[in-house]
Amino acid sequence: RHTGDVGVVVEHCKSSVLVPALSSDPYNSRPDVGVVQRLESPIIGLKNFNNWVKSVLITRFGHPALEQSSVSGPLPGPGRMRMARGKVLDLGCGKGGDMTKWAKAHVKELCGADIAAVSIDQAKSRWEGLRGPRFDASFAALDCYTQPISKAFTPAQLAQPFDVVSMQFCMHYAFETLQKARCMLDNVTRYLRPGGVFIGTIPNADLLLEHLGNMPPDAGDLSFGNSVYKISFENRQRPIYGHKYWFFLQDAVENVPEYVVQWDNFVQLASEYGLTLLYKEEFHEVFQEHQEHPEFKPLLVRMKVVDEEGASAMDEDQWEAANIYIAFAFEKR
Ligand code: SAM
Repeated sequence: RHTGDVGVVVEHCKSSVLVPALSSDPYNSRPDVGVVQRLESPIIGLKNFNNWVKSVLITRFGHPALEQSSVSGPLPGPGRMRMARGKVLDLGCGKGGDMTKWAKAHVKELCGADIAAVSIDQAKSRWEGLRGPRFDASFAALDCYTQPISKAFTPAQLAQPFDVVSMQFCMHYAFETLQKARCMLDNVTRYLRPGGVFIGTIPNADLLLEHLGNMPPDAGDLSFGNSVYKISFENRQRPIYGHKYWFFLQDAVENVPEYVVQWDNFVQLASEYGLTLLYKEEFHEVFQEHQEHPEFKPLLVRMKVVDEEGASAMDEDQWEAANIYIAFAFEKR
């Protein structure tokens, strides 16, 4: 990892020296369980479904040849020529769980950053052990919400702009403050080429706030959920930034503080960074929209979201938990 500073002035990011990995970060302390143990997870159906949604996003928006038809016209068919989106920036890449998806998308180069140094080491190992199509990759431990990515990647690594920036299940942590959200968006857009795409998955604020609004006035515990997940608000105030809640997901996330991403505010802020909305859907909608697609239907079986007979690997509670999230794509003007 290189921590050279190219001297770029990043207005909203602190320019102190890169300090990787907060030891208190919850993602630093989660063991990398490996494929075998992951299969035994009680929520494996939900995990597989989340991966399928990410595959759909990456396939639909990670291939320039499909850009026009997939965005404004009918969904692409499986036989269409696939051209690689050359260069990808994966912010909050974690242990590199999307690496195989990017390999299948035939990317040429991937830069991955995450605040958790332990996860970055695991991502590197995963990349080294990758079978199938190879691509260049570099990984760096970086707080992407307070530090510019120029602290983590060399000028040479950033010289050619990115075609895609991906933030999966992690962007909402930036909405603790406006400053962090701006730093995150600066990192997303500064090295993204015009016409490049920003994709991500975040909790659905409308759903969270609807639940909060439906809680009885005398409720002491501002929580909702089921056997799989629990979301607990601290109070009823609804600040645009720093609207904190605690999230628990069985076998995945121990009570972690997260922040509501109010959608309209996010779209407005993103437009200040030259991003125009292409796509936004709840996960249930992503499923409805793609479940019969000639490419994504068989993928549901291959990724073990459904079995050969079409029976879901998720029970009702997992299916409900799946719809906490929305998927989105923006294009840089
Ligand atoms: N994107 C990966 C995936 O989809 O498998 C990991 C998702 S995990 C739920 C959230 C990730 O966000 C963790 O790896 C965590 O370390 C990372 N994260 C949280 N805050 C961050 C920050 N300030 N900068 C960079 N990464 C951060």
